[in-house]
Amino acid sequence: MNIHEYQAKAILKEFGLPVSRGKAIFSPDEAEAAAKELGGPLWVVKSQIHAGGRGKGRFKEAAAGEKGGVRLAKSVDEVKEFARQMLGNTLVTVQTGEAGKQVNRLYIEDGSDIETEFYLSMLVDRATSRIAFVVSTEGGMDIEQVAHDTPEKILTFSVDPATGVMPFHGLKVAKALGLKGPLAKEAQDLVTKLYAAFVAKDMSMLEINPLIVTKDGHLRCLDAKVSFDSNALYRHPEVMELRDLTEEDEKEIEASKYDLAYIALDGTIGCMVNGAGLAMATLDIIKLYGEEPANFLDVGGGASEEKVTAAFKIITADPNVKGILVNIFGGIMKCDVIARGVLAAVKAVGLQVPLVVRLEGTNVEEGKTIIRESGLNVIPADDLDDAAQKIVNAVRGGK
Ligand code: GDP
Ligand code: MG
Repeated sequence: MNIHEYQAKAILKEFGLPVSRGKAIFSPDEAEAAAKELGGPLWVVKSQIHAGGRGKGRFKEAAAGEKGGVRLAKSVDEVKEFARQMLGNTLVTVQTGEAGKQVNRLYIEDGSDIETEFYLSMLVDRATSRIAFVVSTEGGMDIEQVAHDTPEKILTFSVDPATGVMPFHGLKVAKALGLKGPLAKEAQDLVTKLYAAFVAKDMSMLEINPLIVTKDGHLRCLDAKVSFDSNALYRHPEVMELRDLTEEDEKEIEASKYDLAYIALDGTIGCMVNGAGLAMATLDIIKLYGEEPANFLDVGGGASEEKVTAAFKIITADPNVKGILVNIFGGIMKCDVIARGVLAAVKAVGLQVPLVVRLEGTNVEEGKTIIRESGLNVIPADDLDDAAQKIVNAVRGGK
């Protein structure tokens, strides 16, 4: 789960980390009040959307002006004017895709005078099963580009969970960023507190880009992007409250109500599969035969007929879906339950696109019989390879 920058900064502040003063607002009047309260003389007006690259982004509407999604303002009037321009309009960044995202809230921040911009992020490194730090002097810009062109400018290390974060980790960061004296001390303090926040809140990613040295010689987190481990959210009701449903895909919201592992993708073939590994393999094989999957969906092992029905409805509700592939290898999952779920969903919402069903495993004969006797126009398949070729053919208008 992702949250907004201002929410992430509130968490950082809780852990004693240096962030600018700021206020989240929803209207130009609130922007004006916030700007007066902060006092100036420099303010930053920041679009709050769940995507990065806002500074270099562009609004679709001409009324939003020429500037990007992060703007420096030199007066209260300018803050208000920027708020009027940005609120309700659509910001397109490298991370939003062409459709962009509507800006519904802004963060008005006390402007900082920047001496230097660094990059710092933390993530769960699955290869070492540890929390890793990624640090670079090349902050403020596209870290992927830095990694590609000048990988020697990026330092990565991971922290042993048995010891937790140690003073030498902080020293490593200070050294990589060329910080000495009191700033090196601040870097050490920063690393300790970031690690504490990351662990306590079960984050899966925390990115500070840029981490800056201010003109008066202090470190400050100028941007913050945080994702949480969804499997740990049950123990963080305070984090759950930060969820902004307007930022999430409607189909994914619907799927989460049924506890379905569903992720919307850009392609045309809807997939219903049991087991995450088989679901990944199904996406791969669809691509192998030259088409793109419309979603990832693992209905899980013990899914009920109701859950299967909900899953199938979510797939068919996607207007991009030109064909559906049901691929079930029934172990704990029973093929007849899948068959009944598919039928119930088709009865409720109809079936406008070709449907290929591959059933194997527990109760496979009952499952196949249910589908055969339903009179539905289903294309049966024998194995994964056969199923993938059949659905790809079908969406291309073949037989
Ligand atoms: P992003 O574009 O979505 O990553 O948004 P950021 O929060 O990183 O802001 C983009 C850029 O705006 C930063 O890299 C800074 O260069 C600039 N910026 C943000 N806040 C301030 C500030 O307080 N003072 C100054 N001078 N520049 C800022
Ligand atoms: Mg940034």
